[in-house]
Amino acid sequence: MRFDILTIFPEIFNSYFEESILKRAKEKNLIEIHTHDIRKFSKDKHKKVDDMPFGGGAGMVMTPQPLYDAIEHVKTLNKGPVIYMSPQGKVLSQSKVEKFSSKYKEIILLCGRYEGIDQRIRDTLVDEEISVGKYVLTGGELPAMIMVDAISRLIPEVLGKQESHLEDSFSLSLDRKKEYPHYTRPAVFKGMKVPEVLSSGNHKEIEKWRKKNLK
Ligand code: SAM
Repeated sequence: MRFDILTIFPEIFNSYFEESILKRAKEKNLIEIHTHDIRKFSKDKHKKVDDMPFGGGAGMVMTPQPLYDAIEHVKTLNKGPVIYMSPQGKVLSQSKVEKFSSKYKEIILLCGRYEGIDQRIRDTLVDEEISVGKYVLTGGELPAMIMVDAISRLIPEVLGKQESHLEDSFSLSLDRKKEYPHYTRPAVFKGMKVPEVLSSGNHKEIEKWRKKNLK
């Protein structure tokens, strides 16, 4: 899977994508992540990417020119849909993540800042708007990271056997939204004991206990 991320803060992504599972997935060429600095596409002599809103009001709006040129450039590298991270978008769910992961080999993620992006870009170049929840963040970078993370972990071989998503609370069947409690060593922590059945080795009983304790 190839992700191209459009942002005015490309450095934000360096740390998250350079750790753990996603780092390994990149090294194994299971995923490719490219960030593009929208500011570099600005034709303004000061590389401005925002301006005051027509009609007045608080806050700045991302201007269409740098966004247009950045998106057109990235479209020559990535044939996937342009997804604008937006609080007005469809709220991301596991079934949506599964659809993205199975339907596309390439995805373009557009991160807004300020009061958002000029509507004309939304109307003409954006294929879909996705929200990560019913709250407003300062930018689309965290939502883009969430998309990359959630989609990537469903790609075969990204997770090792230990981390398999087949055990996820939302996987297998979309209406199975419950999960059983997890415990690890030590068996007693600050006086709190792990339920005995879990170290009994009796898989039938463990399964029964887990079913009974789904939350
Ligand atoms: N004025 C906008 C509004 O009220 O909807 C909020 C803009 S927000 C401060 C700046 C950027 O953050 C947005 O353009 C979007 O890219 C991103 N963003 C904020 N909240 C988000 C969310 N819940 N899901 C996805 N993206 C979000």
